Parts: sequence; C-alpha cells; structure tokens
Amino acid sequence: MADPVVTDPATVTSKKKRSPRKKFKFPDGWIARGFTFEVEWPDDHQVASSIRSQFGGRRFAYNWALAQVKADMDARKTDPSHASVQWNLYALRKRFNAEKPTIAPWWSENSKEAYSTGIADLCVALKNWSDSKAGKRKGKKVGFPKFRSKRKDRARVRFSTGPMRIDPDRRTVTLPVVGALRSKENTRRIERLVRVGKARVLNATLRERWGRLFVSFSCIVENHQYPAPAKGGRAGVDLGMRVLATIVDSDGDITEVPNPAPLRATLTERKRVGRQLSGRIPGSRGHDAAKAKLASLDRRCVHLRKQASHQLTTMLADTYSEVVVEDLDLAAMKKSMGRRAFRRSVSDAALGQIRPQLTYKMAWRGTTLTIADRWFASSKLHHGCGCRLIEPKKLAKQLVCVVTGEIVDRDINAARNLRDWPDTAGQDSSGAVGAVAPPASESSDGQDIGLSDAVGGSVRPEPRRRPHPLRPEPTREPREGVQHE
Ligand SMILES: [Zn+2]
Repeated sequence: MADPVVTDPATVTSKKKRSPRKKFKFPDGWIARGFTFEVEWPDDHQVASSIRSQFGGRRFAYNWALAQVKADMDARKTDPSHASVQWNLYALRKRFNAEKPTIAPWWSENSKEAYSTGIADLCVALKNWSDSKAGKRKGKKVGFPKFRSKRKDRARVRFSTGPMRIDPDRRTVTLPVVGALRSKENTRRIERLVRVGKARVLNATLRERWGRLFVSFSCIVENHQYPAPAKGGRAGVDLGMRVLATIVDSDGDITEVPNPAPLRATLTERKRVGRQLSGRIPGSRGHDAAKAKLASLDRRCVHLRKQASHQLTTMLADTYSEVVVEDLDLAAMKKSMGRRAFRRSVSDAALGQIRPQLTYKMAWRGTTLTIADRWFASSKLHHGCGCRLIEPKKLAKQLVCVVTGEIVDRDINAARNLRDWPDTAGQDSSGAVGAVAPPASESSDGQDIGLSDAVGGSVRPEPRRRPHPLRPEPTREPREGVQHE
C-alpha cells in the first residue's frame, strides 16, 4: 500500500498551516477521521487553570469579533460607505492582533490559537447564518450568532500548529501550551496508524464537557481495505423508538435491533436527583453534588446512544451492499409532537446520528446508502398489496390490511417498503402511469408476502404534497416515521 501520495505529505502540511478549516485535497484513498479521548485533568493547579484560561480566551475573542461585526452592521445602516471589517478569519484576526494590547492586556497568557479558534468559530457561525438566509443551507434555519456567556459556552480550544503528539506509551497525548495529558483510555487506535505513517494529525481540539476534559484529533487516515459486505444485497431499515431499527434484506430476512433506551433507564434516577437538586441551596456542597450527578447521568446517556448508533451503523455497513433509510426530519418531528415524553424518546433513540454515520461508513466501503423520499409513506403503504393500511389507533404497532384483513407489523412493513424503494414509491408518485413492473433483481421478493406480483401497479397514490424546495413543511408525513411510542 505504498502509495506515492502517502509518502509525500508536503501538500497537506503547507495547506494546514494556512487554515485548518480550509478544505484541502486529500491524498488518494485517504479519509478524514476524528479520534476522541477523555483525558485526566492535570493535577497541577496552574496547568488546570491555564487550560480554563484558554477556554476563556477563545470565548473572549468570539465575543469581541461578534461585537465588531455588529458595530459594523449598525454603522453601515447610517453610513453605507462605512468600511467594515471582512467576515473572515484573517481580517478579524488581524484587527484583533492590532487591538489586543488595549482590549486584552492579558493576551499573552493564552495561546494565540485560543483567540484564533474563537474568531474562526464566529466566522463559521456567520457563514451558516448567511447561507441559511440565502437558502443555500439545508435544514433548520440558523440564527444570527449570539454573545456567549461562560455558562452557555462550549468550552474548547483548537490547536492547529505546534507539537501535537500521541505519545508511544499510548497513554499520553501532548498538546501545545498545555503539555502532556494523561488519557483515560489506550490511544492505540490512532497511535499505531500515526507511527506507521497511515495517519496524520491535522489539528487537536481540547474541550470540557460535563466537567471532564476531552481531546479530539482530526486526522487524515489511509482508508483501509474493507472486506466485501458479509451478506450483500439491499436492506431497508426502519428506524424507530420501539426498536432502534427493523431491517429487512433482499432475502426477506428480518432483523430487529433493540433500542437500549438509555434515557428511560436512567430517567427514574434523573428524576430523583433533579428533585434533590431543586431542594438544595445553590452554592452548597449538596447542590454541587446533585449537579455533578445529573451531569454524569447525562454523560452516560450520550455515550450509550452513541455506542448504540455506532454499533448499528457499522453492522449495516459491514453486512449489506446497499442500505435504504428514510429521510427523517427530526427537527420537524420533535416540533410536531406535543408531548414531552415523546420528544424525549425521539432524541433518546438518537436517530439523528444514524444517517450521518451511515453516510461516511458506507462511503469508506464504497457501498451505497439510499435515502428514501421524506414524503414516501413507508409505514402506511401495505407492501406487496398496495392498500393503505388501517390504524386501529394512532401510532399502533399492528396495522390492518384493507383488502384481506390481515394484521401487519408496522415496522417490518415499513422496512420492506424502504428496501424496495423507489419501486414501491414509483407507483405512489407516478399515479397515472399504471402498472410498474417489479425489477428483475427484486422479483424473488414476492416470497415474503406472496402477493406482490398480482398487485404490482395497483398502489393507490396518496395525494402527495411536494415540499417547497427551500421551505419544506414537514408536518404530515414525518409523523409516519414516528410511528413509535
Ligand atoms: Zn393490504
């Protein structure tokens, strides 16, 4: 695997120095990967407070740059010829460096990277806002950046130059300014790659969360050769709350991946601790203890969710050549669901993480991820029959076929529909076209229902609302995806 590009990292280094955020050309066959390790807070109080000071420096620069931008915008309202500072890292950083002796006489206490991170973060936020305003950005509308208080800020600092090492003892990571930090976990998964030249660290981010310290390395890594998918074929995956995922593959095999539901499991505990917290006096030792306990329960939930979605997506990517999932609009789902418990369970299942993870994992393996149309009524369309299934009650698990009266499992039916998408949906959307022949590759599918040949084209198209390209109104169909309690 001695690719000539691999041995010539010069291109990467030079670009990296200019700006870590700039997209550079990857060497062929290399991919971007992040590696995160929890590290111990240094015992040395001075080092620990220096770390906190870096976080504060980043926040200061962010707020300062935001104030500049806002002042410029106000000035331009009265005087259109006002010369504003450009919204980019270089211009803002230049002005910051010119002014820092007066606005931040303590600036030399922190790494220049701390300030640079803050300004870069603001530039990204501004770009997201302007792209969102111009309709160039998908998803939820992005608001104008806000000033960050110490409470609200995600404490972090990103280092892109200076010594960043994963030490050979596989326990220590070294960052500029901060120095050596002890990892709580063995760092071998990245250390061995760096040592043999199969990975390069581009930058390192030090962040605090739940009172703990984490270091993430963004790297480029030589993509390793994945074996061919274990099973191959195509799988439809219905994501949900009752079970995390229901998978139906080309052979008609059904796999249910249970949901660990971490939030529900710790809910009682959280409730109890929450009550304790409210009964205690802020600033007291008991209050602090309850707060720490709550934070640790949250941390546990986040990690459990992450683990569940990683296990699921790796399994899917390793097993199938093509995976079809539904295009869930989680933001709209959460909004449209009034009840808090429901909202929580949607977040709980961490459905939002699954699609991005599948996207990159399948790209690494060169396999295909297909996203079914958001407006495809995968859970109500009876697979192989084509009727619209009846719901005995809202979000019921068991649906009833209009034609034969058979009981149909909602999740399995949805997964079957997704597996055959868009062939099943083709009938749905084409309407007037009439019979759509099942494709040759899928013709053996009939077995799992036994009806598909007979009624290939008879699916009654539900009147479908096409979303506005810029402002989709995902109010109806997303509910279908949320069939789970
Ligand atoms: Zn039916």
